[in-house]
Amino acid sequence: MSRIIIVSNRLPTKVQRTDNDLAFTPSEGGLATGLGSIYRAEGNVWIGWPGLVVDDETERQQITTQLRADSMQPVFLNDDEIRGFYEGFSNETLWPTFHYFSQYAVYNEQHWETYVAVNRKYCEAVLEAAGDDDTIWVHDYQLLLLPQMLRKARPHSTIGFFLHIPFPSYELLRALPWRTQLLEGMLGADLIGFHTFGYMRHFLSSVSQLLGYPSQNGRLELKNRTVLIDAFPMGIDYERYANAAASEVAQEHEQNYLAALPNARIILSIDRLDYTKGIAQRLRAFELLLQRYPEWQGQATLIMLVVPSRDQVAQYQELKEEIDELVGRINAEYRTITWNPIHYFYRSLPLEELTALYRMAEVALVTPIRDGMNLVCKEFIASKADRSGVLILSERAGAARELSDALLINPSDMNQLAEAMHEALIMPEEEQKMRLANMQALVQHYNVYHWTRLFMDRLVYTKIKQMTLA
Ligand code: UDP
Repeated sequence: MSRIIIVSNRLPTKVQRTDNDLAFTPSEGGLATGLGSIYRAEGNVWIGWPGLVVDDETERQQITTQLRADSMQPVFLNDDEIRGFYEGFSNETLWPTFHYFSQYAVYNEQHWETYVAVNRKYCEAVLEAAGDDDTIWVHDYQLLLLPQMLRKARPHSTIGFFLHIPFPSYELLRALPWRTQLLEGMLGADLIGFHTFGYMRHFLSSVSQLLGYPSQNGRLELKNRTVLIDAFPMGIDYERYANAAASEVAQEHEQNYLAALPNARIILSIDRLDYTKGIAQRLRAFELLLQRYPEWQGQATLIMLVVPSRDQVAQYQELKEEIDELVGRINAEYRTITWNPIHYFYRSLPLEELTALYRMAEVALVTPIRDGMNLVCKEFIASKADRSGVLILSERAGAARELSDALLINPSDMNQLAEAMHEALIMPEEEQKMRLANMQALVQHYNVYHWTRLFMDRLVYTKIKQMTLA
């Protein structure tokens, strides 16, 4: 029987060291939810890093045994590997380049070598687990070389690859000294998926210009194989957010928050701390709203949740300082005894509190400079079932391709952003509901389970097609 093997940098379970034991916490991320029914099925497995450096052999055994019981297999990484592969090449080279922040990209040969070595390590872990006829689904930018490594070792395997971040224009990719190796690495797959057609077009253009392979209708003809390229916009577990938002706990949180903020017109912003998210620009636009429309002073209230992330990287520390300063300055300038313009939280929140925020917000402000998809905007929509609310969404988030009923804005245009906030605050309820209902139907239908099925079906189809043409 052919099995399915999922591979990603991190496992859907995080292992942490407690005082004298190990704690296993399941991740509730979209990917873990969407792929849950696949990797837990008989014989299948998810391979990845458990999120902890473990040098002790007995401890490794203990982790391996415990994860195996839940269909997972760990790849252990040491400190140097995490530094060069994860923090270095993945987050300081690929992440900025693929998000059009080339000025932040570090070109470090040692990081590259570690990236190659760690991709090989994942490859060996997969080969240990996989047979010749198995289906392997590789995820994201940390493992761009893995499809080709697997292809060389197992020429007949069915290999899928999905990129969860944008694929940039050729002009950005070409700056990378390792650009051809990265493309060739991806081309080991039978099917390569992106969130949008735009990313897919950029990829095909880079492949054509750097490797000379032509394409037709998303089919790339290599020397001895065909590779299919397609767009699969990822969804969320709609019911999970709709149910959590409607739960008694969430409603109770909402009542408490609203009681503390009487008369407030709430605008919500939620992101990981990242320079791609446009957080500082958003704060300046909110200030512009208060200047241009003084009637909102005393009412418009920005609740801004920023989730700590990658705080070892210099740019992230600088951004944190910039945000702290901006929030401090704007609050000091505009606040009154009874009103605080910005409520800023630097932490992460449990699901019930998160959905209570989604529930109570009149406006969600999702304005990344670049974002592969952005799930926060979809979660806001799901949490608003039967209610009103307005989504302001950056045209540079992958989700903007689907959510055309949002107020779409250019995140670098302060004027447009401030105007969109004003428009959202005065939008008639009927229009809000109509726009929301359209988006809800879409987000509910194209949920994460749909996404998983579509990709897997397409992968199987790709392989059958290859075999019938061979
Ligand atoms: N999120 C979370 N805890 C929080 C705030 C947000 O787990 O306190 C989640 C949020 O629900 C969403 C994810 O973080 O599922 C962010 O995903 P998105 O695609 O928007 O951005 P990314 O962080 O992947 O760039």
